[in-house]
Amino acid sequence: MTLKENKNEELKMPVLFIGHGSPMNIISDNKFTQHLKKLGKVLPKPKAILVISAHWLTSGTRVLCSKKPSLIYDFYGFPKELYEIDYPSPGMPELATLISKKLESYNVICDHEWGYDHASWAILKHIYPNADIPVLELSLDYGFNRWNVKPMEYHYQLAKNLTFLREQGVLIIGSGNIVHNLGIIDFNVDAPIMDWAKQLDETVKKNLLNYNHQNLINFKEMGHVANLGIPTWDHYLPLIYTIALQEKDEPVIFIHEGFQHGSVSMRCIQIGKI
Ligand code: ZN
Repeated sequence: MTLKENKNEELKMPVLFIGHGSPMNIISDNKFTQHLKKLGKVLPKPKAILVISAHWLTSGTRVLCSKKPSLIYDFYGFPKELYEIDYPSPGMPELATLISKKLESYNVICDHEWGYDHASWAILKHIYPNADIPVLELSLDYGFNRWNVKPMEYHYQLAKNLTFLREQGVLIIGSGNIVHNLGIIDFNVDAPIMDWAKQLDETVKKNLLNYNHQNLINFKEMGHVANLGIPTWDHYLPLIYTIALQEKDEPVIFIHEGFQHGSVSMRCIQIGKI
């Protein structure tokens, strides 16, 4: 079945944001991983999955074009079994090429070098354990020098151009974390939640429920809690891609709420009904 054949089907895929947290979640059985497993059972089976990855930072935007991407174990010092996990999903070069063409004005380039980093396979392992759905990744244009850092608004507008994929049976997943400062984490996964982290997560939640995208784009105005919880943009940006794909009348559903390591928000969001 080609993507085109699906164009007039009634189904419009929801959009997700998954707070992926520590790589230890790959082999953990907790509320978060249980919710991901349940999600995979209720979601319609997509034709392909596009992950906006907090762990693929590039100069300019790239889309993964390989036919058979390999796994990237982009974390260090974890138990050996994490490095032995496989997730042999195929790529979908024709879809990647279509995305790069549709987003030509944003100069989205086809990439054959990258593979699946843990922002994608660590969560998909729980949601779709069979690894039988084609998976693509989209990188985040991170500039890499102070002359070409793109504003939040640029990412928000770029993401809007991905809307057509929802009507073609593609599941888009932003994978990052709303509150993520590795310099302030508690090594105990179940540590008490830090007040500032809870405050920031609640503020983001409120703005999500009120369709207040401008407040989410201008997150710095949330004050000192934003300085603490979003010290760099990498894990927050995938949320901006997710909300950009929301139509005004679409509901926001919280698939999972909670924290790990005292300050890492594991909030997961579904936009749109299923
Ligand atoms: Zn991460």
